[in-house]
Amino acid sequence: MSVAQNHHDVVVLGGGTTGRLISTELARAGCTVALVENALAGGESPYFACMPAKSLLHSTRRGETWELAIARRDEVAGNLDGTSAAARMAEAGVTVLRGLGRISGPGAIRVGTVTYTFTDLVVCTGSEPTLPSIDGLLDAPVWTSDEALVCADLPRRLVVFGADPAGCELAQVYASYGSQVTVIESARRLLGAEAPFAGDMLGGALRRMGIDLRLGVTLSQIRRTEFGVRVALSDGGVLDADRILVTTGRRPRITDLGLELLGVAVDPSRGLSVDPTCRVLVTDPPGLPASGSPAGLVPRPRAGSTAQADTDAGAHAGTGTGQVAGSVWAAGDVTGTGPSPHLARYQARVVVSNVLGVRREADYRAIPRVVHTTPSVYAVGFSPPSADAEGVDLLAAGYDLASTARAAVEDDDGGRVELYADRVRGVLVGAAAVGPYAEEWMSEIALAIRAETPLSVLTDVVHAFPTYGEAIEVPLRELVERL
Ligand SMILES: Cc1cc2nc3c(=O)[nH]c(=O)nc-3n(C[C@H](O)[C@H](O)[C@H](O)COP(=O)(O)OP(=O)(O)OC[C@H]3O[C@@H](n4cnc5c(N)ncnc54)[C@H](O)[C@@H]3O)c2cc1C
Repeated sequence: MSVAQNHHDVVVLGGGTTGRLISTELARAGCTVALVENALAGGESPYFACMPAKSLLHSTRRGETWELAIARRDEVAGNLDGTSAAARMAEAGVTVLRGLGRISGPGAIRVGTVTYTFTDLVVCTGSEPTLPSIDGLLDAPVWTSDEALVCADLPRRLVVFGADPAGCELAQVYASYGSQVTVIESARRLLGAEAPFAGDMLGGALRRMGIDLRLGVTLSQIRRTEFGVRVALSDGGVLDADRILVTTGRRPRITDLGLELLGVAVDPSRGLSVDPTCRVLVTDPPGLPASGSPAGLVPRPRAGSTAQADTDAGAHAGTGTGQVAGSVWAAGDVTGTGPSPHLARYQARVVVSNVLGVRREADYRAIPRVVHTTPSVYAVGFSPPSADAEGVDLLAAGYDLASTARAAVEDDDGGRVELYADRVRGVLVGAAAVGPYAEEWMSEIALAIRAETPLSVLTDVVHAFPTYGEAIEVPLRELVERL
């Protein structure tokens, strides 16, 4: 391959949700783009996360058998075959490079034995599950969410360690199919970062389906037994199980990428630090100003873009290859903001715009957070705990879904919505809801927060009858009165 073929305007490192969107959009905009992927093109979401998890949850709601649910899950997950995802990127003009990518210097990356050069680099390497350090854990039959979403086993007794959204969703799936599920969570309530009612209602729903919730405790020791494992808890309790599913944490994949060669500080416990344009911050690169500067050059206007040059960028970085380095960008889980593919896709669009020379800053005020259980949990913007932490004075108003006509029609008595206004500014800044498909009928609140829609306009919006969406009307009117 010639040197010219080895140079691309943009190299995208990692071909998950984020990398696919960025590389495809930039190729369509006329850039030469190479995407480096060492596993399945498409990343986590389609094969090991969102798609198989949602498929299994859907199967539980449809009352399908385990065998059917597994077959359906595998089909939804493309039978773990990334060929068509790679083909779609190639069709869009992206050069897909298979292999592990490692930055070899400013403006250069090695994939296998070949070095490729680039003007812009976008790091989209995602995140990976981590296992806590617990005596005996590594000798035990342990799953992370990756294994739980590809295996066909239905453990008779399952301990789920960590009640994050994935832990709650998988606990519900396995309990629905007959596993005796115990959830161990070190916090005293589920979803501790959200409004207390959300975790309490979800906990109630999980308990009603027979899940044993142990809150405020942790695993202290695990021992193999003749029939499985024996788990000792920090409160002195003991459990016997066949399998342990650990969902206590994920860590951004930022080690061994060679990022240090670009002057990027690598701290595996945190994501890559990016500025609002998703440009990676460098600490001390050769030839760049020290400490907290954006990595690389001003984004250059490209053909077809309505260029509006960024003015806050850093200085030049020599590549040692005769090229001039552009910027280093990052999006998705690697930035430590997720895990969330809709947030990843949002950051991806921000990167695309900035690489094309049209300045765009990410606005994180209205990014939804969802647990796709039954009932589902939706939250957006500030929650009471996060507002407390940031000193925002919230005014809250709520409504029980049981009081809606829709709940009467569907004989559904659980669920609640709460809306949070900033008492000082008089606009909505957060919301939480628990109820059937809450993520579907709460989107207007995300828009209201993002657009800072006046409450007087929101109270004038008409909702179809009978819908769960009507549930926001009463708290909106209450907020107007109390403000
Ligand atoms: C069980 C589970 C359920 C979830 N459900 C939801 C949900 O319902 N809703 C939601 O919002 N979010 C959900 N998420 C989170 C979501 O899956 C992630 O946020 C999303 O996949 C992140 O996309 P990404 O592009 O940042 O990373 P990834 O999709 O992980 O892609 C990164 C890619 O980079 C590749 N790579 C890494 N290093 C290199 C290298 N050196 N060279 C070459 N390639 C490399 C990897 O192989 C991978 O393909 C869930 C997560 C889990 C675990």
